[in-house]
Amino acid sequence: MISMAGVDKWYGAFQALKDINISVGKGEKIVLCGPSGSGKSTLIRCINHLETYQKGEIRVGDIVLGHQAKSIDAVRREVGMVFQQFNLFPHLTVLENCMLAPMRALRLSKVEAESRARQLLERVRISEQADKYPAQLSGGQQQRVAIARALCMRPQVMLFDEPTSALDPEMVKEVLDTMIALAEEGMTMICVTHEMGFARQVADRVIFMASGAVVEQAPPAEFFSDPKHERTRKFLGEIL
Ligand code: ATP
Ligand code: MG
Repeated sequence: MISMAGVDKWYGAFQALKDINISVGKGEKIVLCGPSGSGKSTLIRCINHLETYQKGEIRVGDIVLGHQAKSIDAVRREVGMVFQQFNLFPHLTVLENCMLAPMRALRLSKVEAESRARQLLERVRISEQADKYPAQLSGGQQQRVAIARALCMRPQVMLFDEPTSALDPEMVKEVLDTMIALAEEGMTMICVTHEMGFARQVADRVIFMASGAVVEQAPPAEFFSDPKHERTRKFLGEIL
């Protein structure tokens, strides 16, 4: 479903990704972790073409992420993304937030977009908030709207960049439960998160990055009980 082969990325003179080789199968759930500044956000932003890269190749399904606008549009349709800071449009209602991209990018009619939006708001159990504005919702509710909004494009893959780290502790669970439900339905997911309980429960594979490179990857049982590299052990020692 997703493959990254020999991917290098620089910000100016600083190399943020070093020879990244990852492949993610359909329905696979990946948790990506690592210290601050290790390149986790950069890596998943490259998959969505929010960042460009200089060397190697990224593929999502049949799409090769080149540098032409055509492939950018195609990949944005297939890949949904949820950010730490929700990034909802503040001047649109919950329902309108969910209808915008399907109408613009998929050319759905208003009626079709609204019916799809209501269905997905139902799925994240927030349909009663459809006519409110983002600022009238709690952080956990906003994040569930952000998940519904991404799902309205019917993406093949969902990317999450620390979706719970801006939330008050009591709201973390409702967002994780939504992600767990999505995982159980078979969605292909790459989640940057330090929620290791989520990783143990949901991930097929945990990938650990440091200094722009993949250091180690393993199924969660093995990753947590028998980390191979010193850097992984040090990281786990700090967060667990
Ligand atoms: P965190 O856990 O803090 O979110 P991260 O693993 O997501 O960290 P990235 O945000 O991918 O790390 O950043 C990787 C490195 O690239 C960092 O050293 C960061 O300072 C640098 N970097 C990120 N974005 C830019 C940018 N737009 N311009 C220059 N350097 C950047
Ligand atoms: Mg980050």
